Amino acid sequence: MIEFDSVRLVGAALLAALCAGVPAGDALSEPFIVKDGTPQADIIIANQPPRMVKLAALELQAYIEKISGARLPIATAPLKDMPAHVYVGKSKYTDELKITDEGLKSGAFKIVSGNDYLALLGQDRDFTPPSIALNVGTNLTKEWDTLTCEKWGMPFRGINRRYSPAVGISDYDERGSLYAVYEFLENLGVRWYMPGDLGEVVPERKSIALSPVDKLVKPDFNYRDLGGYSPHFDGGPRDSVLWRLRMRFSMGEEIVGLGGFAHSLNLIHGRDEVKQTHPDYFALYSGLRATNHMHSGAPCLSSPGLFDSTVKYARFIFDTYTNQPAISVMPNDGYVSLCQCELCKGKDTPERGYQGQLSDYVWDFTDRVARELYKTHPDKKIINDAYGPYLLPPVKIEKFSPNVLVAICEQRFGYADPQTYALYMDIRKVYLEKAAPGNLFTGGHYLYTRPTGAFAGVPVFFPHMISKDLRALKGVSQGEFIELSQGPQSAMHAPGINHLNVYVTGKLYWEADRDVDKMLDEYYKSFYGPAAKNMKKFMEYCEANWPLMKTKVEPIDKALELLADARKAAGDSVYGMRIDVIIGDTEPVKKLREKLAVGRKGAPQAVAAERKSADLKLDGKLDEPFWKDVPVYELKDLSTGKPPAHKTTFQVVWSDTAIVFGIRCEDDDMPNLNIATRKNEDSNLWAGDAVEVHLETQTHAYYQVAINPAGAIIDADRRVRIDTKWNSEAEVAAYAGDNFWCVEIRFPVVDNDAGGADPLKKVEGRKPTATSPWYFNVGRQRIRKGQLEEASAFSPTYANHFHVPIKFGELIVK
Ligand SMILES: [Zn+2]
Repeated sequence: MIEFDSVRLVGAALLAALCAGVPAGDALSEPFIVKDGTPQADIIIANQPPRMVKLAALELQAYIEKISGARLPIATAPLKDMPAHVYVGKSKYTDELKITDEGLKSGAFKIVSGNDYLALLGQDRDFTPPSIALNVGTNLTKEWDTLTCEKWGMPFRGINRRYSPAVGISDYDERGSLYAVYEFLENLGVRWYMPGDLGEVVPERKSIALSPVDKLVKPDFNYRDLGGYSPHFDGGPRDSVLWRLRMRFSMGEEIVGLGGFAHSLNLIHGRDEVKQTHPDYFALYSGLRATNHMHSGAPCLSSPGLFDSTVKYARFIFDTYTNQPAISVMPNDGYVSLCQCELCKGKDTPERGYQGQLSDYVWDFTDRVARELYKTHPDKKIINDAYGPYLLPPVKIEKFSPNVLVAICEQRFGYADPQTYALYMDIRKVYLEKAAPGNLFTGGHYLYTRPTGAFAGVPVFFPHMISKDLRALKGVSQGEFIELSQGPQSAMHAPGINHLNVYVTGKLYWEADRDVDKMLDEYYKSFYGPAAKNMKKFMEYCEANWPLMKTKVEPIDKALELLADARKAAGDSVYGMRIDVIIGDTEPVKKLREKLAVGRKGAPQAVAAERKSADLKLDGKLDEPFWKDVPVYELKDLSTGKPPAHKTTFQVVWSDTAIVFGIRCEDDDMPNLNIATRKNEDSNLWAGDAVEVHLETQTHAYYQVAINPAGAIIDADRRVRIDTKWNSEAEVAAYAGDNFWCVEIRFPVVDNDAGGADPLKKVEGRKPTATSPWYFNVGRQRIRKGQLEEASAFSPTYANHFHVPIKFGELIVK
């Protein structure tokens, strides 16, 4: 055993040696944690530590053993024969050393060494769910209704799903000391790139020195909820849960509360009792209160009753759960249309396009609730997300109430598109000006390759964009909520594809300025060994080209070829097994490739006749000579291709510099025709009967135009996302007969130059010919009492929606 004083001397000598650039191992009696495969230290925890501290000690023990073969004993008091001690978490020993966890928020930690000890310390606390929430996820409790004297939904839904029986911890547990352990192990060279044994890199060494260290590590982003709703801890495999912990995420309860950024306004209005007693809380769509829209109903945000109940709910939550900092009043998903009641009239802003059409309407509600709450609870926050039709910042609110938390739902993977990137940077800037300092958050999803999506299996890697974006967000956003898709047994979906994006994001949440290329080089070398160069080539190719893979066969082939090369280079090894995981996860992309290879071969063709514009009488009727002898085409059921119950036919004409559609919809229930709006550019239109025309010209993919039986029109450019600021400037007329309705639509068509000069107006393209056709679809939806009864299309998409461009039919002029 080494004398206390001599250790101190050696420690000083070691420091001097380090400063002089002499390798530390040269010091003769340097303190060790492990020497030549023999334990030189014990792991000391408190008598009754929080559960995360126990886990931290076990993780440290396990990885020290994996590295060196030495198993350090875990004890609650220093063992006599051990020369050094590793203190994990707060204990009387760290108290004696005056190493405290004071001020270590959001997972921050300290790593401090002395002559014969190493302390790994952060704040640790077991999460105790609020007592009323114990039945969350099962039934509404009588207890809850008795407590509230209201018919509100249960708050904090899903928090029990954040408890992992497999590991015995909750995702809400504070765990700074565990993060200190992970930092220490990573400094020794351990890496956790992917869940499970296969995903980790562990260096081998017989000795681990107790090197001098004194550091305090804080994350750049305090809220780090990567995973979103999933992978849930509950039922999640141990590997998956541990990997999430090793990524050092944080649920941020102390910042955003237990409800986070979820859609939560439905807690006020979603229950059946409320639907029956307060129909005025609900939006009026097509003359009906939308009590069942997306299950819990769409709110009327002008309703005084709904406002009062929301404020009352907020006060109740903060009075009852006094440590909760914030609640969300974000409307339900699918909330896209303005309520048509008298109070709401004129409160939308369709001229701002789809992403701004409800901005002032929704943010006004958020801000009013926050201002009212501020009078009684100035330290409590109200959350809303900038999302969907209220993504753009409101115009009429110059500054939000100081207690409004804004979470911008972004699309980081889409920032390769310069227009998208510019749009979101602008949105961020304006919200930053409107929100009080420290009240801005970001979020979104990494779901591009989700299993049910059209682009499943596409190898999407975007580490450089993650790096660029998080650097820009450091000091701007307080943190993030990023949704990931869930695979089998609540594990992460497609880890072979998703792990790198998640890993890079997790690391940069702690140190946004880190050199991402250095990180990646290390990753390629240590994770893929002999295949490092090939994998770098593969991943860099995918990073540059994945957006093309949704429409082109060649980049898919090239990526899979590079991946196969890498597999060959890796040989029969752990490196090869890792690449096999990626190969397995990219398997679904082959289906997409098949579809793309078939392409539009076999697509139905429609022939447009040529007629003179002067002969068109735009009255909705299709009876003038203009339409005579123009071929007539019939729609089929959208998802099955069978004849639909309600027949729809159309004709199409090229007329000078315009394309004209005549569409006739037979209907045996004309008295109940569902005219959802009589206004143009009103997204309520999609809640009623309508026909749609989708046009892909030689130079633009694609335009979407919907017209209803009243002749109201809404048009959008779908080049990247839905952009309703684009205006087709089409002329429309509708006509209703006894058992049918029909429309005439005349689209002016402009050439490339004019289209380029004003891309927000008119269809851009040239006259479609056999050698240079357009692709298109005509569709019809029949909606009665809020339910879709039938959807049909000229070219069935075999999906439950119209938006499958690869299925578009061909259009030529003859
Ligand atoms: Zn209303």
